[in-house]
Amino acid sequence: MKKKDVVIIGGGVIGTSIAYELTKRGKSVALVEKDTIGAHASSAAGGMLGAQVEFAEPGPLFDLSLRSRLMFPDLQKELYAASGIDIQLKTPGMLRVAFTEEEKSTLMKQAEWQTAMGLPATWLDTKEVRRMEPAVTDGIVGALFLTEDTQVSAPDLTKAFAVAAAKHGAAITENCEAIEFYRQGEQMTGIETTAGKLEADEYVIAGGAWSGKIMKQLGHSLPIFPVKGEAFSVLSIPHPIEKTIYSHGCYIVPKSGDRLLVGASVKDCGFDARLTIDGLQQLMAKAVRLLPVIKDCPLEKTWASLRPQTADGLPYFGRLSAYNNVSIAAGHFRNGILLSPITGQLIAQLLSGEATAEALEPFTDIRHSIPVSQ
Ligand SMILES: Cc1cc2nc3c(=O)[nH]c(=O)nc-3n(C[C@H](O)[C@H](O)[C@H](O)COP(=O)(O)OP(=O)(O)OC[C@H]3O[C@@H](n4cnc5c(N)ncnc54)[C@H](O)[C@@H]3O)c2cc1C
Repeated sequence: MKKKDVVIIGGGVIGTSIAYELTKRGKSVALVEKDTIGAHASSAAGGMLGAQVEFAEPGPLFDLSLRSRLMFPDLQKELYAASGIDIQLKTPGMLRVAFTEEEKSTLMKQAEWQTAMGLPATWLDTKEVRRMEPAVTDGIVGALFLTEDTQVSAPDLTKAFAVAAAKHGAAITENCEAIEFYRQGEQMTGIETTAGKLEADEYVIAGGAWSGKIMKQLGHSLPIFPVKGEAFSVLSIPHPIEKTIYSHGCYIVPKSGDRLLVGASVKDCGFDARLTIDGLQQLMAKAVRLLPVIKDCPLEKTWASLRPQTADGLPYFGRLSAYNNVSIAAGHFRNGILLSPITGQLIAQLLSGEATAEALEPFTDIRHSIPVSQ
């Protein structure tokens, strides 16, 4: 293959978003994916764009999440025009319920600092919640109503990024693993894949939970590791809920086709992504407690996948400090779908010599990269 401007390793929502943004800027791109596009976390996700619900305090990742959430309405139109795929952006909002007074007071604090920043976050008592969503249990003490926290179909978003990137000229190769990396000093000169050698001016590691392994192959230790999430979906009666219902350890997201998606366990089991009875049983019990009608719904499917987590909870993006032509975009843990548009935009801006819309310092590898002792 002819030398490209950029080679991307990993075809999840992060790698495909970067490919899309780069090709929009006229860059020639090759993307390699060891399995199939979206085969792992990116298709397992609930698709929540939970910029407000996911954060107990403000910080640089919160700011980035808000900016990324704002990008979705335009992105939906853009991706539909370029790929013909509807990412199914749904905007009825989210209810973060509390079962105890203690949870309520934590959520009230969250509402306080978010409303002080001008964001909508309203506390509703049990009656008000049930007026809005009558199927939710009356065993709650209330809920925080977050009108701006929305959702998309995660598998469709990933596919749409990939199809749109390919339409703009990206060469996407599935079942193609990057297995070896060639370097001369601070310059990466090529990668060996299971389908042959690739060369580019710039390289991007977007290998999700496997990014730490790739970094080791490059001779550096970066704390990115897998955290398993189990989930299931049911077929429901039409519209038992309109909003996403989110509680401690369980959320229920209404999807097209009268389906409810229920997620997700959080387990540290290395690269073992198998479902367990224990994980499913606990999740099902939490779902029934939250939305009793779910008990009689036929089970549609079950699945599990690996979220890419980091030691300090912040993703990595930006150029790797040990190279002058290798960047990373990995470690988005529970929020990779939400953060995918802004990540694609920032990496594409960086590699196109544009000013990045956000400061990347808090997210670069400077904070952790350690050479692996031989
Ligand atoms: C059950 C569950 C629910 C979730 N719910 C949400 C949610 O509601 N909202 C949200 O924002 N986020 C959610 N997430 C998190 C989100 O799914 C992830 O943060 C996101 O998908 C990470 O994307 P990624 O592209 O970095 O990783 P991945 O999707 O894992 O993609 C990385 C890809 O790189 C490939 N790869 C690795 N090594 C190589 C190599 N050497 N050569 C070639 N290819 C390679 C892998 O095969 C993989 O396909 C959820 C995750 C799980 C598991």
